[in-house]
Amino acid sequence: MDVIDQLESQVRSYVRSFPTTFDIAENAIIYDEHGNKYIDFFAGAGTINYGHNPNNVTQALTNYLQKKGILHSLDKATTAKKAFITKFNDTILRPRKLDYKLQFTGPTGTNAVEAAIKLARKVTKRTNIIAFTNGYHGLTLGALSLTANDYYQDESYGGRHNVYHAPYDGYLGPNVNTINYLSQLIEDPSSGVPLPAAIILEVVQGEGGINVASREWLSALSALCKKHSILLIIDDIQVGNGRTGEFFSFEFADITPDIVCLSKAIGGGLPLALLLIKPEIDQWLAGEHTGTFRGNNLAFVAATELLSYWDNDSFSKSIHQKGQIIQSSLNQLAIDNPELSISVRGRGMVWGLEIPEQGMAQRLSKALFNKQLLAETCGNRDQVLKLLPPLTISEAELNVGLAIIATTLTELTY
Ligand code: PMP
Repeated sequence: MDVIDQLESQVRSYVRSFPTTFDIAENAIIYDEHGNKYIDFFAGAGTINYGHNPNNVTQALTNYLQKKGILHSLDKATTAKKAFITKFNDTILRPRKLDYKLQFTGPTGTNAVEAAIKLARKVTKRTNIIAFTNGYHGLTLGALSLTANDYYQDESYGGRHNVYHAPYDGYLGPNVNTINYLSQLIEDPSSGVPLPAAIILEVVQGEGGINVASREWLSALSALCKKHSILLIIDDIQVGNGRTGEFFSFEFADITPDIVCLSKAIGGGLPLALLLIKPEIDQWLAGEHTGTFRGNNLAFVAATELLSYWDNDSFSKSIHQKGQIIQSSLNQLAIDNPELSISVRGRGMVWGLEIPEQGMAQRLSKALFNKQLLAETCGNRDQVLKLLPPLTISEAELNVGLAIIATTLTELTY
């Protein structure tokens, strides 16, 4: 029995994509306990956007611990919380002319989603929510109803509640306008789909296969929501924080959601989740959606440091530049392997390589691990290799990783 099997015999069996024990990490490189070095193209599913252990964060956390800053901030103002709110407003909201209130939720993305749908129901006095095919929003009972993949459902959970899954952009083929379909459903009283409280979506579907919504589709969806006073919720948990090139994934489409869910990368690896809510829909009573660990001070310290990446536009430019390197390398790979009918999708630094052959993307992920490159699969059949390197990865390491993918794929197919 190896060490990992021993560990696993002591805990509930868990999906183990990468059979080693990881130890430390620096920017885009993770070391296991034997000192083996892995290039990280997974980044904790979009949690490590700013790289592992950036110096300024380590320093700020060390200082905070040394000054005895750990105190519980549930219903208190703290200097760490105040610094984060100030920095977030100054760096993210004000320059984008966005007017949102921040609400810290329980520290997981799922809890932010739960709060968002509760608030939408409370504000609109409607219960139905529209989510999308291949969407992922978490696995607690409310969020699970929104998550499309049936793998996570079990009959014993009692089924999905008050959710309708509409076809995402492109789901019915490249020439079908799924917004027309959705508006007919909403406007036809005999459709069986009640007027929803909210429509919730990811602008790029992370777990569902790196499906990318177009600017036109998002803008039509936003107009549809306005027309029927439906709240628009953007779940930016996986593809916010610069993943698509700008801080928010929806910025490029010039839309302003009513609620935005943020988590994962906002705390740079420490647990933090929050909602941005338009001030006019903040109808919560005090303590109505609370939770012991909402707004953790250590996470605020890290998050405040990380927001400095957005002090000017050079970070965004570098993401787009590296995104182009990824895109052209993957396009070349699709050309070089025509028998695999690969499709390449993504934006900024979130990319997917769909390989229709059953099991191929998973075999590739395993083979990449053996070459010391970490990349997971996604999609409803795990048919997509997902590439999410830290946004701070050096171009040299990015190119090494992309070259490993190209040679490994060739080796697998010959
Ligand atoms: N929404 C999206 C888009 C996600 O990718 C995830 C996590 N993969 C969640 C919600 C749930 O977040 P958490 O796992 O932190 O609860």
